[in-house]
Amino acid sequence: MQLYELTLKQLKSKLINQEISSSEIVDSILDRIKVVDEKVKAFITVTEDMAKNLAKDLKQNSESKVLTGIPYGLKDDMCTNGVRTTCASKMLENFTPNYDATVVSRLKDQGGVLIGKLNMDEFSMGSSTEQSAFFATRNPWDLSRVPGGSSGGSAAAVAADELPFALGSDTGGSIRQPASFCGIVGFKPTYGSISRWGVMPFASSLDQVGIFSKDVQDCATVMNVIAGKDQLDSTSVDLDSTDYISYLDTNIKGMKIGFPKEYFQKGMNEEVKALIMKALNKYEEMGAIVQEVSLPHSEYALQAYHVIASAEASTNLARLDGVEYGLRDFQADNVVDMFSNSRAKGFGDEVKLRTMFGTFVLSSGYYERYYLKAMQVRRLVNEDFNKVFQDVDVIISPTTMNTAFKIGQKADDVLSLYMNDVLTVPVNMAGLPGISIPCGFIDGLPVGMQIIGKPFADGSVLKTAFAFEQNTDYHKQKPVLGVN
Ligand code: GLN
Repeated sequence: MQLYELTLKQLKSKLINQEISSSEIVDSILDRIKVVDEKVKAFITVTEDMAKNLAKDLKQNSESKVLTGIPYGLKDDMCTNGVRTTCASKMLENFTPNYDATVVSRLKDQGGVLIGKLNMDEFSMGSSTEQSAFFATRNPWDLSRVPGGSSGGSAAAVAADELPFALGSDTGGSIRQPASFCGIVGFKPTYGSISRWGVMPFASSLDQVGIFSKDVQDCATVMNVIAGKDQLDSTSVDLDSTDYISYLDTNIKGMKIGFPKEYFQKGMNEEVKALIMKALNKYEEMGAIVQEVSLPHSEYALQAYHVIASAEASTNLARLDGVEYGLRDFQADNVVDMFSNSRAKGFGDEVKLRTMFGTFVLSSGYYERYYLKAMQVRRLVNEDFNKVFQDVDVIISPTTMNTAFKIGQKADDVLSLYMNDVLTVPVNMAGLPGISIPCGFIDGLPVGMQIIGKPFADGSVLKTAFAFEQNTDYHKQKPVLGVN
């Protein structure tokens, strides 16, 4: 096996045993990127020199930290001191922050080595990474297909063995859906468990930073590093004493698993459904109790999500007006034209659509009719989950109704693109933890299973995922990129 193929845990043990150096790992990863990223196109920026210099000085010894010498990548919506942070937008094409997001400082403090910044849908609005202002990322399992989105670069890079792990952000499914399409682990923890400070906001009440990794163990390791209270984010919660690794055991005897009947209906690919049913059987074999549950309002979650997310996006993106940072139109001869020309040039179509829609639903006369209604739906979605979680420990569903679609296939069909998140959005609406793990293949394309937990029961979600993973080997399958 090549170094770039290894998990975080495997790399760490080789480092500790002095079998390899961090420089060797970083070189192996950078070489891999040179060979495959022309095809996959996951990276917007590769921080090659920085990574090589840092790795030279990192040695594993008794004082080593959790990530000493381990490479990672970041979705390009996370601010990195001295490294361009674009949100895959022309607006921020030349924006280089002079500070690190809290998650980035935490990875750095534990000795991680940043390899680069990863492609995404512009300002996280999309489900395919085709909305990047720069280029589309491709699915490593089939280069003619999308990797999912909006954190598609992060997912594709981990799936293509260009990184052992990466961070992404998830507002309505942007970690779980690409993880599902790319056949890797993608975890969106409970809202508030990881600081959002320094991460470009899309919809602040829904946004959550999370992790892409090759297995659940690595996901728990990274959680230990990045989760917990941050004075700079008032929505972050004190979880400092939580050790996510301690939850990873395979004894799930007596665990109650619910499968929501509404999540297996309209438009569901029968083969996807069959794979989830097979997985539920596996859980029963392992001693879990599986029962049908009902989440009747989830059906309305997607529509309400688009109202709420767009409303929040319209206010969050108001800061990008050409004044403080980002693209500025220098030709305008008055300030109002400068604002509007800068935004007209800087933003792509999807961002314009959503900011206009968001401004509309917040405007006087429409606020009650749309925004307030959407908030009421959000409450109902939440209450459904609360009720179900009185009876079961976790909920299992497919992550998406289908496997990865072709690039361009949904370009003229925005609604069918939005439908990609129909099974993931309710989880953000309720702020719950959700993970997608590989559970099979259809015609050579990966299928993901979503496990949803109670608020702050992130450990139980990881445990449920770990138990399945230990009894299957879907996560060990690798795409053939023709260069292995
Ligand atoms: N695909 C969804 C959207 O377009 C979710 C995006 C996200 O989670 N950032 O809004």
